[in-house]
Amino acid sequence: MSARVTGRFAPTPSGRLHLGNLLCALLAYLSVRSRDGRFLLRIEDVDVPRCPRRLAAQCIEDLLWLGITWDEPPLYQSERTAIYEDAFARLEDMGLVYPCFCTRAQLHAALAPNLGDREPVYAGTCAHLSPDEIAERSKTRSPAMRVRVPDEDVTFTDGLYGIVTENLARDCGDFIIRRSDGLFGYQLAVVVDDALTGVTEIVRGRDILTATPRQLFLQRALGYPAPSYVHIPLLTDSEGRRLAKRDKDLDLSVLSKRFTREDILGLLAHACGLLPDWHPVTMDALIRDFSWERVAREDARLSPALTRM
Ligand SMILES: [Zn+2]
Repeated sequence: MSARVTGRFAPTPSGRLHLGNLLCALLAYLSVRSRDGRFLLRIEDVDVPRCPRRLAAQCIEDLLWLGITWDEPPLYQSERTAIYEDAFARLEDMGLVYPCFCTRAQLHAALAPNLGDREPVYAGTCAHLSPDEIAERSKTRSPAMRVRVPDEDVTFTDGLYGIVTENLARDCGDFIIRRSDGLFGYQLAVVVDDALTGVTEIVRGRDILTATPRQLFLQRALGYPAPSYVHIPLLTDSEGRRLAKRDKDLDLSVLSKRFTREDILGLLAHACGLLPDWHPVTMDALIRDFSWERVAREDARLSPALTRM
């Protein structure tokens, strides 16, 4: 494998991309392109019912409008079930997987990829069921599948936030890699896809910083190399409120009618510290001048001028 850096943007198309998503895409893109690297797009529609194809198409349109391009056809997680199946079977063969019959509410809490706050630690309720108990419970409920985590520290160095350590047994517990409805969990799909597509650098929001130790654990178990990680500050409105998919005025359906591509690039670059003030800028200029040194560590605020205009 070549030493060329490979980055990616991996949106979940359960809604239209907002400016916070676009900032993430932009920084991932600039980091790679400033070093003449390869850039990939992956549509994280593993949760098919929540991610209709038209929203994925809209994501692609928005990224292209901003001037972000990728070097291979986009990958759709919804088409890769057999590949996740294979990784899952390997973990099963290692004795790392067991069925969990806990309630739907708990399963949902453990599935969402973008929960800002810590998820509840799984208590290991189903970790030691006997084969008879499993057979009995399977009659009335189809189980989710969890992976057993070790009671040891997992450490990595984040490109912006430095050393991050987590003990998975204490801080997370055995986590779900396959849902009760049969769909594969986010952590497993991400790890498999990044490894098999040769991704060497992962740039994403700091809201999922705490998912990284789980992914490192899965990488190790599956024998994959660990990529480098840069978790980026969240983008907030000018009042410091976190952006959400419901902020319709901050997606490109509205903004692209009021602003040019260069305006929006300037807005994002200014919010994260790459530009001292908001002015139009080209993608080429951003690529030429990019350095992680210049990206702010604190959360990025949109210019108040955005809502005044
Ligand atoms: Zn359970």
